[in-house]
Amino acid sequence: MKNFDAIIVGARCSGSTTASHLSKMGFNVLVVDKAIFPQDTLSTHFVWPRGASYLNRLGVLDEILEQTPSSNEIEITIEDTTIRGEIPLDLLAQRFTNLHGNADRITQTSFSAKRYVIDKILIDYAVKQGAKVLEGFTVNELIFDTNQQKVLGIKGKNKDGSVCEFFSKRIIGADGVNSIVAKLTNTSKEEIRENCTFAAYSYFSGFDLKKPIIQKKGRMSIGIVPTNDGHNMTMIYGPKKWAKAFRNGDKNENFIKAIKYVNPEIGEIVEKAKKEKEIIGTDKMASFIRNAAGKGYALVGDAASFKDQCTASGMTHAFRDAELIAQHIKMGFETNDIDNQLQLYARKRHLDTWRYQEFVSKTAEMNPASASEVQLFEALSKNKEQANRFLAMYGDTLPVRDFFTEKNIKNVLIPVLNEKRDLQNYKKDIYKYYKNIFEINGDVSKEDISLNRTCVDFGIPIGPNILKRVDDYYEWYNARNDCNTWQYARTLKSFPGTNASMFDANERHIDGINFASQDYLSMGSHPKVMKAAKEALEKYGPHSAGSPMVIGNTELVHELEEAIAEMTGMKHVMIFPTGWAAGFGTITGLVREQDHIVMDRLAHSCLYQGAYAATKNVYRHPNMSIDSVRGLLEHIREKDQRNGIFVISEGLFSMDSETPDIKALQEVCRDYDATLMLDVAHDFGALGENGAGHIGNQGMKGQVDLVMGSFSKSFASNGGFLATNSAAVKHYSKMYSSAFMFSNAICPMQTAVALEATKIMRSKEGSQLRKNLLNIVNHIRNEFHKKGIKCLGTPSAIIPVMIGDEKVARIAHKIMTERNIATMILEYPVVPIGSARFRLQVMASHTIEQANAVVSNIAEAIDEAREYVKEYESPLLQTIDK
Ligand SMILES: Cc1cc2nc3c(=O)[nH]c(=O)nc-3n(C[C@H](O)[C@H](O)[C@H](O)COP(=O)(O)OP(=O)(O)OC[C@H]3O[C@@H](n4cnc5c(N)ncnc54)[C@H](O)[C@@H]3O)c2cc1C
Repeated sequence: MKNFDAIIVGARCSGSTTASHLSKMGFNVLVVDKAIFPQDTLSTHFVWPRGASYLNRLGVLDEILEQTPSSNEIEITIEDTTIRGEIPLDLLAQRFTNLHGNADRITQTSFSAKRYVIDKILIDYAVKQGAKVLEGFTVNELIFDTNQQKVLGIKGKNKDGSVCEFFSKRIIGADGVNSIVAKLTNTSKEEIRENCTFAAYSYFSGFDLKKPIIQKKGRMSIGIVPTNDGHNMTMIYGPKKWAKAFRNGDKNENFIKAIKYVNPEIGEIVEKAKKEKEIIGTDKMASFIRNAAGKGYALVGDAASFKDQCTASGMTHAFRDAELIAQHIKMGFETNDIDNQLQLYARKRHLDTWRYQEFVSKTAEMNPASASEVQLFEALSKNKEQANRFLAMYGDTLPVRDFFTEKNIKNVLIPVLNEKRDLQNYKKDIYKYYKNIFEINGDVSKEDISLNRTCVDFGIPIGPNILKRVDDYYEWYNARNDCNTWQYARTLKSFPGTNASMFDANERHIDGINFASQDYLSMGSHPKVMKAAKEALEKYGPHSAGSPMVIGNTELVHELEEAIAEMTGMKHVMIFPTGWAAGFGTITGLVREQDHIVMDRLAHSCLYQGAYAATKNVYRHPNMSIDSVRGLLEHIREKDQRNGIFVISEGLFSMDSETPDIKALQEVCRDYDATLMLDVAHDFGALGENGAGHIGNQGMKGQVDLVMGSFSKSFASNGGFLATNSAAVKHYSKMYSSAFMFSNAICPMQTAVALEATKIMRSKEGSQLRKNLLNIVNHIRNEFHKKGIKCLGTPSAIIPVMIGDEKVARIAHKIMTERNIATMILEYPVVPIGSARFRLQVMASHTIEQANAVVSNIAEAIDEAREYVKEYESPLLQTIDK
């Protein structure tokens, strides 16, 4: 038989359980896997009660527990404080009811089965339910309909080399991180976070452990779980960047060293125990999320999203996906609308997944617990109910956000706040935790410091002396300067045109091509702009001499307001002294403590600062995901119909050069009585007819609730604006936005420059400048494409040239400086860890020769830098191919 109700690619946790669910529902299912079972895979085995509950609902848990140790109790220790407890049934029930409509057969049991045990049981169980399982079958093609739109089947090779095709309108990719189904349907990875742990584990016998334990000290953790064959799976994990020193030394010695560091007593026990297997592990666990459904197919388990192992939740989520997709496939049959049901699955899954994914990604940084975290943990250790809630949060039963509410944290902390405690020593000691415990004699070269550390390491300086505790950062700054990898704060000696002269903090001089200044339409050198600046200086002097609410504004400001009103299609405009002030000031002027803010994860810093200054109710959503915005608005409005919701997005995201669907975003906001504010700093003036940017391109002039922008990118000036259709909003904001009221007004010369720029932008010459800009931009993007280098996003004055590894980016930037070309690289905190990139800022007056020079030099610099970093790093830990 070649036709099936569903075909599943991948037969481990997510694939076999999906097959069992569907077969039990009476569907005719094929599962294929390239592996032949039983076969091991990288995994440290722990399954949370939520995961065990899924297996119990499926009917297979008892069989697993017959041969696998299990425990209701789980224990976590941070520093010297231990909490132990179990996941509350009511929280489990709530999570299951919310997602699946019932909480039948949930259990508080956790267990840890070796993968060659559990995967085999799950596959055999699928066969018992009626699924056809084909092992040793490698899928290498998908069969599409004639329009190449919809997946209709799979094609692959049997272990004897014979080729087979199978057909179904429901193809499920349960094929792990490197999913072939995702690849062949062009489903890309989103929300990539490179920050992950390095993990190494083995099995030890000869000691008796009754329950799973996790312990953390400083930046190092151990996890030990009793598993099959009388063995204890014993693992260590720490910050990814410690992996190099771990593997450079003796692996076995370092393994024991790490355990002893975390807990000397346990270290002694493991050292004396019998090691049953070679140590294996990985440091390749960058997390991502994929869109989990398309026409004729869906993704489950690691294929749909992957995250670091540090919270041991991948299998639990694989079992969740199996039940969820089966429910939706069944509904697809009942309603005869399978594609819609697959989409619903993807949406529900995403809402259930993404916040926890963020939590895991943060946990995977393996920063030492802060003093307040230690205090929280001590409080939890004395409060059984809350300790159970914490464990439930850690294992993704209680949503992360529901545990870390202000109210809940107060409830936990208040009983212990009056106790005399001394965390001063802990705060001081925390410094020592930053030292890599595997580094011989603690020696770290300047190059190691320069290449390996990022702003993450210094973001939360610890210690009572505020002036002293930034010394570590200064050491890093100096190391990077000495190694010529500090890309920041260069000083100009000339006009910042397409050629410029400058020097950096280490006195390295550049006198050459400049792709690092922001003057997208080259207004800074326009004769009319220069003239306007001189005239304003002569007439009004250099200084605005006061707040705009006193007499700081010149008559030019009113003209500028009118010009911006015309360009945005809005009725009222107010001018701020800087773009930063416009973002921060608009939010803090309008939003109050009880209101809610829903904002794009990639929104600009001034918007974040404004949001957190205005209210604690800030919800971040994945970049440009309208579904997530809708989900959040629905969630907020369910609980709160009385207060405001302020939604923040951008016309053009400057790190990725991407634009959201502004119309759809505004419509969603209106559905929930929320207010949209769009920051158009990077597209306004430089793109669209008459410089209206993407609000013009998308036919949304005059129709977005609030538009704010900056003059610093295309208008050759400082200053920013807020545009609204409401006179009340404008005048209220003037009074209540302290960034406006309590700041000196924009200076006359800057106003004149921005005003003159608006005139040019709306003229024929402005159209020509935008055309020139896009021509050069498209040329550069095409040239990179020819060289196989990825530029993110869509054409705009910003060209993000993707690199990834910060080390490579820093070295490549150093090479560009040596070649006398000014460029900028972006790394954390402005982009996520592991997604460093060049950001070229193109000007309308750049020439094709300059464009060609920057492309060829960047291509060479990246190649050279990759080679350099390859040499610098030695081979990875031994791993099992996943
Ligand atoms: C070091 C480490 C420790 C971990 N520890 C834990 C833990 O303690 N607890 C936990 O819950 N999770 C843990 N995880 C995560 C967990 O292993 C995964 O989330 C889980 O295995 C995902 O299951 P899956 O079925 O989606 O994918 P996988 O287990 O990756 O299975 C995918 C299957 O698809 C098959 N396949 C792939 N391509 C093809 C093809 N072209 N044709 C046919 N077949 C194909 C593969 O052979 C494989 O059998 C850990 C992961 C790592 C890396």
